[in-house]
Amino acid sequence: MHIHNFSAGPCILPQQVLRGAADAVLDFNGMGLSLIEISHRTAEFEGVMEEARGLVRELLALPDRFEVLFLQGGATLGFYTVPMNFLPDGGKAAYVDTGTWAAGAIKEARLVGTTEVVASSAASNHNHIPKGFSVPQDAAYLHVTTNNTIFGTQYHPYPTADVPLIADMSSDIFSRTFDPEPYSCIYAGAQKNMGPAGTVLYIVDREALGKTGRKLPTYLDLSQHIAKDSMLNTPPVFAVYATLLTLRWMREQGGVTALEARNRAKAELLYAEIDRNPRFQGHAVPEDRSWMNATFTLTEASDAPAFDHAWTEAGISGLTGHRSVGGYRASMYNALPLESVQALVDVMATF
Ligand code: PMP
Repeated sequence: MHIHNFSAGPCILPQQVLRGAADAVLDFNGMGLSLIEISHRTAEFEGVMEEARGLVRELLALPDRFEVLFLQGGATLGFYTVPMNFLPDGGKAAYVDTGTWAAGAIKEARLVGTTEVVASSAASNHNHIPKGFSVPQDAAYLHVTTNNTIFGTQYHPYPTADVPLIADMSSDIFSRTFDPEPYSCIYAGAQKNMGPAGTVLYIVDREALGKTGRKLPTYLDLSQHIAKDSMLNTPPVFAVYATLLTLRWMREQGGVTALEARNRAKAELLYAEIDRNPRFQGHAVPEDRSWMNATFTLTEASDAPAFDHAWTEAGISGLTGHRSVGGYRASMYNALPLESVQALVDVMATF
C-alpha cells in the first residue's frame, strides 16, 4: 500500500532524493567508494558542499553579504549560537514567544544576555501569531520562529521591524518566497523541507558578526565557520549530500515560487475541509494558519478510535498531534504531494 507520510519531522523527502542518497552510500560518483567512507577533504566532497551552499543562495536569491553554512547541533544549538554571535555584551535582544521552539530560543538567549519577550501567544495555547507589538529601538535583533511546527501557526507575511531580524525557519524554509534583506541570520534544521536530520543551515550576514565583544568557543563562532567555508571540522557528510539532492530537486520543481504555489494549494484543500466538516475544529486562528503543519481536533473526542482506524486504513501515517495540542497534525512539507492531502480530505469527508 502507498503510504501518505504526514510526519512532522523528520518527514517525507522526494523519492529521487532517497534513491540518490542510497546509491551514493553504496558507490559515490562511480568512485567505487561510499560517500560515507571518503574524506570530507576530497575534491568530490568539497564539490558537494560548494554546490549545496550555492543552491541555497540561488533558491533564496540571497544578496552577497550573506554566507551559507551547514553545521551541526540542530536548531537547538542555534538557539544558543544566535545570541552568542549577535547579542552584544551588555545589550538586549527581543523575542516573540509563539510556542515550544520559540520558548526554547528564549531560554537559551537568557543564558547569554538580556532577553525581552515583546509578545507571546501563550495565554491562548499559541493558537495565533501576536500582532501589533513594539520592539525596543535598542534591541540588537528581533527573533521570530516563522512557522510553529507544534501549534500549526505561521507568520503571514513574515514580520518586519526597525531592528534586524533573526529567524528560526526550521519548519518552513524553502516553502515560500521571502525577502532576505531585513535578516542578520536565518537558521533551520534540515529535517523538514531540506533533507535528513544531522545538519542545520545558517544564513548569516557576515557584516553583522564580530560585534558582541565576546570570545566564543570555536564551534559556536560563526566567523570561524565562514573562514573555513563550512568545513572547520568534519561536516555531517551524509546529511549535507542528501540536502544537496533535495536542493537540486527543489530547483527542478521550479524553485521556491513553484513550491509555494503547491504548498498553498495543499493547505487550502485541507483547511477547507476542516472548516466545512462539523466533526473537526482547527486549532490555529484562520489568518495565522500554517501551510506546513495543520493542527485540528475532533469535535467529539469519542470519535477518535473510529477516525484513527479510517485514516490508518487509508495508508495515512504520522497524523497524531503533538501532546501540547492533542488531536491531529497534518504536516504538508514540500515533498508531500497534493494527492496525499486529497487522500486525507477524502477520509475526513466520508467519516
Ligand atoms: N525549531 C523548530 C521550528 C522546530 O520545528 C524544531 C524541531 N524540529 C526545532 C527548532 C528543534 O530542532 P532540532 O531538533 O533540529 O534541534
